[in-house]
Amino acid sequence: KQYGVNELRKMFLEFFESKGHLAMKSFSLVPHNDNSLLLINSGMAPLKPYFTGQEIPPRNRVTTCQKCIRTGDIENVGKTARHGTFFEMLGNFSFGDYFKQDAIAWTWEFLTEVVGLDPDRLYPSVYLDDDEAFEIWEKEIGIPADRIFRFGKEDNFWEHGAGPCGPCSEVYYDRGEEYGCGKPGCTVGCDCDRYMEVWNDVFTQFESDGKGNYEELEHKNIDTGMGLERLAVVVQGVDSIFDVDTLQALRNKVCEFANVTYKESEETDVSIRLITDHIRSATFMISDGIMPTNEGRGYVLRRLIRRAARHGRLLGIQDGFLAKLCESVIEGSRDGYPELEEKRDFIIKVLAQEEDKFSKTIDQGLHILEEMMQEMKANNEKTLAGEHAFKLYDTYGFPLDLTKEILEEEGFNVDEEGFKASMEEQRQMARKARKVTNYMGADVTVYESIDPAITSRFVGYETLNHNSKIT
Ligand code: ATP
Ligand code: MG
Ligand code: MG
Ligand code: MG
Repeated sequence: KQYGVNELRKMFLEFFESKGHLAMKSFSLVPHNDNSLLLINSGMAPLKPYFTGQEIPPRNRVTTCQKCIRTGDIENVGKTARHGTFFEMLGNFSFGDYFKQDAIAWTWEFLTEVVGLDPDRLYPSVYLDDDEAFEIWEKEIGIPADRIFRFGKEDNFWEHGAGPCGPCSEVYYDRGEEYGCGKPGCTVGCDCDRYMEVWNDVFTQFESDGKGNYEELEHKNIDTGMGLERLAVVVQGVDSIFDVDTLQALRNKVCEFANVTYKESEETDVSIRLITDHIRSATFMISDGIMPTNEGRGYVLRRLIRRAARHGRLLGIQDGFLAKLCESVIEGSRDGYPELEEKRDFIIKVLAQEEDKFSKTIDQGLHILEEMMQEMKANNEKTLAGEHAFKLYDTYGFPLDLTKEILEEEGFNVDEEGFKASMEEQRQMARKARKVTNYMGADVTVYESIDPAITSRFVGYETLNHNSKIT
């Protein structure tokens, strides 16, 4: 049977409720009391205080479907079948309650019995030394030993500095040869899209001191995560996360606005998928109260919107379209996230404003950048001067990352130090201007009211560079 995305979300939560879990609402994308993270990037992240014992969980078994943003995956978006900057992570959690045995058994039961995946296409992996997990898969679930993969730290050990950590076990689904890279040795764990990683069961059983010493925890925990969109890919048997029911509807809207057809050219398809993803991220971020700015989370949002706007241009869309597209995001996801519906007008307004701001300068900026690249080509230069990148930023609203990306597509790079220096210079000038005004006895706020960005902008960028880790 073909289950829809909204149905699968419900099925997961109900399954774990039937196993004694408390189903909790998704937490905001904005971390609460956690400076280590710019945006929530896993189901576990907002539950950290329960894992560390800082707070008492409402129940020792919890299940969620958590909205996540991973800007670290931004380069993959549109290019792989399985990565979005936005996705939903389904998870079941045990705080010192059940451990490996139940976690693995339920993972298997859900995948093979509840949603009915073919067991012969599923492959588990375990951490190198984790014989305990290996044996559960082999002896209790009945997977032949040669179908269970043992991987090293990079893939199968979950650790984040000091604190609770442990090995994990993942489940991959073989989508068939036609999705493979065709390279010799392509098998489970290959980075291509044939063996798609769907679920990660983390067994937090150690406390790490961050220096390589691990102590066995008295209360062991379970933290699992499965991408809802990826689950839908394998259940619905479609090509990519952009082909599952809800995302396909959105993708079709993108094609409609651009008057292009999907699957006619790879280059066009990348832009279509990228816009489909970025508008989802932007809609959800704004619904959680994030506004486009030049620092931190706001910068991530601005970068996503402007990147989508540029790809809209590549597809030939001239006027604002993101504010219209968000309707389709709301339509597809309001089932699980009623806040989207509640904030509809606000989301539209913010997107329209941001689009409007950028659309006034984007064409000019792109044209100027094009000229800069021509000149670099003529002079046999590889690196764009920092002051030029700064001009694009300051006058045309190009986030540095966007400039960098366009340059890289043509084999160029940018002098980032020079960019920062130009930024600093501007800042000093703004400061001086304020001092002079002050000295003359005038109200400095008058100056700010002319261009409020002048004073806030540069401070913001510094914050981004020094404090914020973009994940
Ligand atoms: P991959 O190796 O495919 O990048 P991952 O190992 O980084 O995935 P985890 O950190 O283990 O992913 O996250 C748990 C689950 O969340 C994954 O098994 C996958 O189903 C889902 N997931 C992770 N990143 C993304 C993404 N960018 N888009 C959609 N789903 C994702
Ligand atoms: Mg990843
Ligand atoms: Mg992985
Ligand atoms: Mg993983």
